[in-house]
Amino acid sequence: MKYYLFILGCQMNYSDAEKVSAVLDASGHEKSDDEKSADLIVVVACSVRQAAVDRIFGKARLWQAKRKEHKLKTVLTGCVLEKDKKKLSPFFDLIMPIGEVEKLKKFIDCRDALPCVSNKQRRRIQCVSTSVPIMTGCDNFCSYCVVPYVRGREKSRPAKEIIAECRNLIKRGYREINLIGQNVNSYKSLNKPLPLNKGEVGRGSKTELPPSNSPLIKGGGNSGVDFPQLLKAIDAIPGDYWFRFATSHPKDMSNELIKVMAKGKHITPYLHLPVQSGDDEILKKMNRGYTIKHYLNLIKKVREAIPDIVISTDIIIGFPGETKKQFKNTLKLFRQVKFDMAYLAQYSPRAGTAASKLKDNVSKAEKKRRWDELNELLKKTALAKNKKLVGQTAKVLVEDFKKGRCMGKTDTSKLVIFPGDQSLVGQFIEIKITQIGSWALWGEIILSSSRGKRKK
Ligand code: SAH
Ligand code: SF4
Repeated sequence: MKYYLFILGCQMNYSDAEKVSAVLDASGHEKSDDEKSADLIVVVACSVRQAAVDRIFGKARLWQAKRKEHKLKTVLTGCVLEKDKKKLSPFFDLIMPIGEVEKLKKFIDCRDALPCVSNKQRRRIQCVSTSVPIMTGCDNFCSYCVVPYVRGREKSRPAKEIIAECRNLIKRGYREINLIGQNVNSYKSLNKPLPLNKGEVGRGSKTELPPSNSPLIKGGGNSGVDFPQLLKAIDAIPGDYWFRFATSHPKDMSNELIKVMAKGKHITPYLHLPVQSGDDEILKKMNRGYTIKHYLNLIKKVREAIPDIVISTDIIIGFPGETKKQFKNTLKLFRQVKFDMAYLAQYSPRAGTAASKLKDNVSKAEKKRRWDELNELLKKTALAKNKKLVGQTAKVLVEDFKKGRCMGKTDTSKLVIFPGDQSLVGQFIEIKITQIGSWALWGEIILSSSRGKRKK
């Protein structure tokens, strides 16, 4: 049976989709990039914006028509609001909470599964980059956001489990790990502090398993492991890899975290720090819990500690009541901070959230106009920043090869394209940057490197 994954939304959904794939691959099913040839379609849904929900309805109607022509099974999972679940249920054979992914096994008839098929598939999987969820849910209740309603309250995974998973992935050859959660800065492992080797807490011990009588993570006390401590413990895993994390919340970003980022050998100099608006009054209405002064101070501290850091952000344009003047404050913030990248969203009211009770009074046309203006400014800033990289050497993790060209990312998460071959996929390569755009860099190979570590 061929299956197709329709994934919407954030990295957490992509990570959940990996779980779905793991269950289906293990049962001998074959993943397809072509929706038309699939016998099973699994939707990993996102409800953060109405546009994503509308796309699911659009697709579901199309598939409904196809189901009459040939046997097609459809499954819905991910973030779905209760009201949408009811409306979508006629279009799906199974609606499954992502935490119950094992249900898929029962749902699908695996009688035809051949063990050799799954082995073949396993060989094809490129172990390059992957995500590790460290927590789920969110307690912040930003007034516009549906996440706390669809994902529930914050729950951190035990540090021991996360570290073991990272260690295993690195051993299997993964070169990049993305630690993910809605607010990673408030990570707190409820488990007892993790026993680690002295060498592991510091720099690169070769020992695989810590002895049970070894010292606890420094500063861990009896209250568990916090986010900077978790980063330190992962950074101490020996191997050829780098890792990053998202999403950081500006209200919870500590000095200790900045220190750990600056010192980490495998932590990439990249920070995604969503600000959402450049105006204090709007931030208050959004219930974000910080001011622009606080945000700018954070940026200053981060840049002082890690001069080569690349910073990206998220913005919501046209929040209820956002005046032209308030939007101008967002433009001003962009001129001040000079982000390398930003994800710009037009506000979309979400049922059940506090902001949905406010009048969505910025017209669609005005939201679009503001979006274009901010996007133009962002494009210019990103281009100017990338110009400085021409002639420089960048360490690139090669993720894909297509039509004679390799594609990869720098440690600062910038896309790099260069002539190469399939054998380079999964390697760290030194690339001389020759051309740039706002969202991509082009270059040529200098020499291959086997180290994923940054010079400190
Ligand atoms: N936890 C992250 C964000 C998760 S949602 C944080 O705190 O930043 C991802 C992004 O979707 C948000 O950063 C926001 O920019 C956007 N978003 C969330 N709700 C939205 C809404 N109602 N309308 C438009 N964009 C929204
Ligand atoms: Fe949503 Fe705010 Fe939580 Fe991010 S921090 S997931 S925006 S409620």
